[in-house]
Amino acid sequence: MTDLSVAVVGAGIGGLAAANALRAKGIAVDVLEQAPAIGEIGAGVQLAPNGLRQLDRIGVGPAVREVVVPFGPGSTYRREDGSPVTSVVVGSSDGAYPVAGVHRADLLDALLAPLPSDSLHTGHTVADVVTLEHGAEIRLTDGRVRRADVVVGADGIHSRVREAVTAPSAPQFSGQVAYRGLVPRSRVPDWPADAFEVWMGGGRHLLVFPVRGGDLINVVGFVPADDEMRESWSAPGDPRQLIAEFSGWDERTTRLLSQIDSTNRWGMYDREPLSRWTTGHVTLLGDAAHPMLPHVGQGANQAIEDAAVLAELLAGADAESAPAALQRYSDIRLGRTSSVQAGSRRSGRRYDSQFSDLDRRDAELEESKEFRRWLYDIDVVADLVATSHPSTQGSTT
Ligand SMILES: Cc1cc2nc3c(=O)[nH]c(=O)nc-3n(C[C@H](O)[C@H](O)[C@H](O)COP(=O)(O)OP(=O)(O)OC[C@H]3O[C@@H](n4cnc5c(N)ncnc54)[C@H](O)[C@@H]3O)c2cc1C
Repeated sequence: MTDLSVAVVGAGIGGLAAANALRAKGIAVDVLEQAPAIGEIGAGVQLAPNGLRQLDRIGVGPAVREVVVPFGPGSTYRREDGSPVTSVVVGSSDGAYPVAGVHRADLLDALLAPLPSDSLHTGHTVADVVTLEHGAEIRLTDGRVRRADVVVGADGIHSRVREAVTAPSAPQFSGQVAYRGLVPRSRVPDWPADAFEVWMGGGRHLLVFPVRGGDLINVVGFVPADDEMRESWSAPGDPRQLIAEFSGWDERTTRLLSQIDSTNRWGMYDREPLSRWTTGHVTLLGDAAHPMLPHVGQGANQAIEDAAVLAELLAGADAESAPAALQRYSDIRLGRTSSVQAGSRRSGRRYDSQFSDLDRRDAELEESKEFRRWLYDIDVVADLVATSHPSTQGSTT
């Protein structure tokens, strides 16, 4: 282990990826999580080649590969009547990494397994963080105080740590809510086993993909928010309401939606890109740094990229040099994540068919495959190493 001590606030996908990445570089990490137990909601998440590549790098790739379902070439964008628009990009251009579905709990288990249990501190709610000359101080809501050389705020879209870094700002509501549900595949045996499908219609869309070895189908319905939902971040959703939202769509979707036993509704929020993520010994990662709409499936993947880049830059740093490394991390990551935040909004407009001319939507969907390739093909750590030490390109692990 190096001399550097890092405290990560938040044990979501971003915080746990960071803990693994830092440990892989020999850096001691403590993770502080407000919840009494570490867990994720019962829903799927899509892992893309750019995220899977970094999971390999930080040592959890093999465990994650055990629990993902790679999407097949039949993956398709469809109109609400079921007619196909175009194919979905389902892997990196070199064929090395797929786009794949995973149950969030399975991903979290894979990220938790390598971490020593005494580095995980549940029931630790951070009230605020202060950067000091030689480190940072973390104040918990129960009055306890901790110190670390570096604090990483991976505490999600409502981040408290962000307040140490930048002026407060309100998240932006997209006007939409997402209903999330899971369907046992045995109930819809004719649904394609490995397909990622986006079904698009006026002002709404359905996202469907397999998780948990294909035994479960993850379904997310994005619909305009009603007045009640505008007041809350999340609430139980009525599956009958979800079916009603998509009434008149192709009967395959009606049959699928009718098999959802329970669902929750989530308000869809993002933020404008921040101008900086770092102040002194404190930085941000994941949704705390760049909350985005989920319409290119990149929030978690970008958090994983953040984790790998952060660890690469902190490797070899000490308490004195850490602020410069954190500043470089923020400088390197801001451009890419800001583009993904903007791309997610654009993708949402296409999926919700907010076009007077749907041929234009379809043309943009085709064109957006280039953006996917840019997202999927980049190895952010190899690029960083190549820029820092041109002669060592490819030597990082
Ligand atoms: C409907 C939907 C679908 C999505 N689909 C995809 C997808 O397919 N692919 C993808 O890559 N992304 C997807 N995303 C985005 C992805 O879920 C998020 O970007 C990702 O989970 C963010 O992880 P995080 O660790 O940064 O934050 P979070 O998951 O929000 O974790 C933050 C953690 O910090 C803890 N915490 C908060 N405040 C404190 C505090 N004060 N003290 C201590 N702990 C605290 C929280 O309890 C939580 O455990 C989707 C999002 C939605 C809403």
